[in-house]
Amino acid sequence: MGVEELLQEISAEIRREVPGSVEITDIEFEAAVLVIYTKQPERFAEDEDLVRRLAKKLRKRLVVRPDPSVLAGINEATEEIKRIVPDEAEITDIYFEPDTGEVSIEARKPGLVIGRQGTTLNDLKKEIGWAPKVVRTPPIPSKTIKEIREYLRSVADDRKEFLRKVGRRIYRGSNKDEQWVRWTSLGGYREVGRSCHLLQTQDSKILIDAGVNFSNDDKATPYLQLSEVWPLNQLDAVILTHAHMDHCGLIPLLYKYGYDGPVYCTPPTRELSVLLQMDYIKIAAAEGKKPPYESEHIREWVKRSITLNFGDTTDISPDVKLTFNNSGHILGSAVSHFHIGDGFYNVLLTSDMKYERTWLFNPTHNKFPRLEALIMEATYGGKNDFQPTRQQAHEELGAIIQRVVGRGGKVIVPCFAVGRSQEVMLVVEDLVRNGQIPRTDVFLDGMIWEATAIHTAYPEYLNNQLRNEIFHEGNNPLLADIFRRVDSQATRREILAREGPCVVLATSGMLSGGPVMEYFKEWAPDKRNCIVFVGFQAGGTLGKRVQQGMKEVPMAEGGKSKVLHIEMEVETVDGFSGHSDRRQLMNYINNLSPKPDKIITMHGEESKCVDLASSLHKKYNIQTWAPYNLETIRLK
Ligand SMILES: [Zn+2]
Ligand SMILES: [Zn+2]
Repeated sequence: MGVEELLQEISAEIRREVPGSVEITDIEFEAAVLVIYTKQPERFAEDEDLVRRLAKKLRKRLVVRPDPSVLAGINEATEEIKRIVPDEAEITDIYFEPDTGEVSIEARKPGLVIGRQGTTLNDLKKEIGWAPKVVRTPPIPSKTIKEIREYLRSVADDRKEFLRKVGRRIYRGSNKDEQWVRWTSLGGYREVGRSCHLLQTQDSKILIDAGVNFSNDDKATPYLQLSEVWPLNQLDAVILTHAHMDHCGLIPLLYKYGYDGPVYCTPPTRELSVLLQMDYIKIAAAEGKKPPYESEHIREWVKRSITLNFGDTTDISPDVKLTFNNSGHILGSAVSHFHIGDGFYNVLLTSDMKYERTWLFNPTHNKFPRLEALIMEATYGGKNDFQPTRQQAHEELGAIIQRVVGRGGKVIVPCFAVGRSQEVMLVVEDLVRNGQIPRTDVFLDGMIWEATAIHTAYPEYLNNQLRNEIFHEGNNPLLADIFRRVDSQATRREILAREGPCVVLATSGMLSGGPVMEYFKEWAPDKRNCIVFVGFQAGGTLGKRVQQGMKEVPMAEGGKSKVLHIEMEVETVDGFSGHSDRRQLMNYINNLSPKPDKIITMHGEESKCVDLASSLHKKYNIQTWAPYNLETIRLK
C-alpha cells in the first residue's frame, strides 16, 4: 500500500472515531508521527482517551495540533503568557516552535506556570492556541542549546516540509519480496576510530554513525564510496549513536556529498555533536588545515535532525523501527535497537557502552522485547583488560590531590570536554565535601564549561542519584562553588601567575593542543606540581610520551624550538573510562535478555575484537564474528 492509500484509510478511521462536529483540517505524516490538525484542539483534550484509542488502532505515534489559523501571533501570545503566568514563576525564556504549534516556557519555578491542577496551563492553552510545554530553567545557560533552538526556529517552514517528505518516504510501502537482513562494516572494525555501519534489508538502507579517526591520516574516514552507500541519497536514514568524533565527526560531510535525509539521535547527542564539530573546524582553521566541511554543513544536519528520547520507538523506513536506550558511555549515548519487518528480525548495536553505574550514568540497558543479533564494542575486550572500579579511581585521585595540594603544588588533569571532565568534577566535589581533601579552587578551561552546561540541561539522562541531587535537593554538585570557569586569556594568565595550590581541568585530553598546553608548559618544570592522566592516551600523542616518562619535550615557541624539562610528578588514574572493561563486557552478555544467537565485535584493536569474539563463543556457545572493514554478514 502506498502512502496516499494509507492516509486515506487512516482519515476514514479517524472520521469514524472523532465526533462529526470536530473540524479536522489536515492529516499528514511528519517523519513517523501522524499529525492531525484541527480548529478545536480542546475537543481532543477533553476526551483524553480518544487520542490513545486512535493511536492504538492505527498503530502510529499520533499528535493533535491546532490548525495554524487558531494560533495567536507570536508577539501577542508572548504578552498573554506574561500576563497569565505569575511573576513569581520567574520565566527565563519563551520559545515558539511553529512547526509543531508548541511553545516552551522555561521558568525557575515550573510548578507556578502549570498552576494548581494545571489551571494556569489550561488558561494559557485557551487564550493562545499554542500547546504550552513547561521546562525547568537549566542551572547553567548553554550557548550551544540557545543557538540550535534559534536556528531551528528560523528554518521552521523548511523543516516542516522536510519532515513531510520523510514521512512519505517511510510509508512508501514495503515490497513483498523475500525478506533478508545484512550488516556491512564500513569503519571501526578491528580498529578504533571512523565508526560506520550499514544495515540493509530488502526495503531499507540505514547508515549508522560516520566517524573520523584523527590519529591515522591514511585511514581517517570510513568506506562511504561503496555502491551500497554511494550515492548517499539512496539511504533511508542515518543514525547517530553518540557525540564522540569517532562516531559523529563526518555527519556534516554526508550533507556536503548529497545526503538529504534525516539523522536520528537523542537531544543531548545533537547538542554535544554540534559543540565538538564546530570546535573541530575552528581548530583545523587555526592550524592552517582545510576542514572537510564548513559550518553550513553542520547547520544542514541540524535542520534534518530528528531527536528521540530513550524508549521512544519510531518507524524509520518501510520495514525498520528504531528504539534508543541508555548505553552509559557519555551524555545522550545510546544503544540502538532495530526491529525489522513485522517481527521478522531484531538487531542491537551497543556502540560505545559502559556496563557499570558511573558517577554520571546508569549502566547499559540490557532488557529488550526481542533480540537475535548483537553488534558490540571491544575497546577493552582483551583477556587482560581489567580496570579498577570507580571507587578505587575515586580513592586514588583523592590521595594524589591531597599529596600535591599538601606540598603547595598544582594539579593538572587533561580531560576530554565531554564525559570524563564531569566525572572528575563530581569526584573532586565529593572529596572536598567529605573533607578528604582540603578546599581548593578547581579551574575549568576549554569547552568543559559549555559541555557541563549541556549536562545540566538534561538531568533526565543522568543516573538516578545525580538526577535527584539536581532536582530535589537544590544541591547540584556540578555547580559547587569550588568550580571556576576560565573564559579568557586574561583569567588564564592570572591562574598561571598565581601562587599556591589549585586544580586545573583542561582540554585536550591527550596534550595534543588546547588550553591544557599553557598550564603544562608553565608548571611542568616545578617538582611540587603533578599531571594526572585519567583518559586513554593514544600512541604518538604527547600525552602518551609524558605518561611513559619522557623528561625533555621539544616545544615550538615563537617560531623557535625550546626544550621543556619535566620535573613535575606524572600520575595515571585508570578507572575513569567510559568503556566497559573485559569483565563488564562478559557480564553484559551474561545479563542480556534475551540472549542473541549472533554476535559481531568491533570498536577495538584487532586482538581485542578477536579475543572477545572467541571468548564469547566458548563461554556462551553463540555464533560470533570479528569482521574486518568492508565485510558483509547476512544475519537472516
Ligand atoms: Zn565514544
Ligand atoms: Zn568510539
